[in-house]
Amino acid sequence: MRLLSILRSTISFKGFCFEDCFLSSGTIFIKIRPRKNNKCLCSICGCSGSTYDTRKQRLWRHLSLWHIPVYFVYRPRRIDCYNCHKIVTESIPWSLGKCRLTRSLIIELARSARILSWKTVAEVYNVNWVQVRNAVHSAVQWGLEHRDTSSVKLLGIDEISQRKHHHYLTVVYELCPGQKRLLWVGEGRTKATLRSFIQYWGPKRCSQIEGVCCDMWDAYSGMVRKHLPNAVLVFDKFHIAKHINEAVDKVRRAEIREHKNEGASELKGTRYIWLKNSENLSEKQIFNIYDLEKANLKTHRAWLIKETFRRFWKCKTAKEAELQFKIWFDRAVQSGLKPIEKIAWMIKEKLKNILTIFDMPINNGATEGLNNKAKSISHRSYGFRKSETMKIALMNAMGKLDLPPT
Ligand SMILES: [Zn+2]
Repeated sequence: MRLLSILRSTISFKGFCFEDCFLSSGTIFIKIRPRKNNKCLCSICGCSGSTYDTRKQRLWRHLSLWHIPVYFVYRPRRIDCYNCHKIVTESIPWSLGKCRLTRSLIIELARSARILSWKTVAEVYNVNWVQVRNAVHSAVQWGLEHRDTSSVKLLGIDEISQRKHHHYLTVVYELCPGQKRLLWVGEGRTKATLRSFIQYWGPKRCSQIEGVCCDMWDAYSGMVRKHLPNAVLVFDKFHIAKHINEAVDKVRRAEIREHKNEGASELKGTRYIWLKNSENLSEKQIFNIYDLEKANLKTHRAWLIKETFRRFWKCKTAKEAELQFKIWFDRAVQSGLKPIEKIAWMIKEKLKNILTIFDMPINNGATEGLNNKAKSISHRSYGFRKSETMKIALMNAMGKLDLPPT
């Protein structure tokens, strides 16, 4: 069976046929032409019309065959569209936008790039890195144009650091159960960043938002209050826990410095013990803490305060939680531990929007997993020097976007 016969019996494009197929310099070229009397279709509105002119020959990279590169060769026609009142390139069924890859290849590359590094994808499909980027870009663009966001009611706003140089991206997730997905990525973590999201989302969808969960970051909370009028603002419990953990670690580091001259401190190498929740400690770590307790350490005191705060989340109502907080706050500010006092005051100041969790039980816990995924994408994609590329990589992997049909 000749290759042309195989092609004809496995792929068909309505109105087009395979004219010829040949091997040249280690590459397979497949020539395509329109069927006789086939009218071209407008790529914008889909109306049929007569041919205005025929452009020069173009190539589309297709899936390799036995690792041999394959190209479709075709001369696109232009149509004087009666409906659009202009001259438009015809609709080409294997093509997607301006991308010079076939739809089938775009879909394969974009799907693989959701789980593999772009470099690996390029190797597996015998294409180059730029072609992978173009494929992901086209697929994401199509996915964004075809996604439905009309029912989005709960948002989680978070940040991820890109590279080591304090370069941040703001990520906006949909928080609904079973529908956690990345909705938007923007550069920086400022007011301006969130403003561009709000502009993109538009007043209609903004007014539908019922709840927003984010860190106690004034840049975010100010914008949420101003532009999402119907949303309950909830400061994320996981971020609060992280801030308290950081305070405990500050106490530990200061204590190590204090005892520097007294030889090896028993605190060295204990960082992760103090960050864990007590029920997650291993048997060895429990004994370790027991020993450290006897040493009457500041770090141990800070850890106890951190552990006590967790009772706050177990409360049933905002009223009960507020009472619980008062008890904790007094203990924290009288602890004589500066970092603990500081975080206690900070929580007190933001308490109103922390208590909202008891009426609107949302948190960014689920996005933590997504954020870890984002970090690993950022990490394994060493070639993402441009933020724009990083953004499409994240949208492709985490946006739950549909892929274009073949
Ligand atoms: Zn048209």
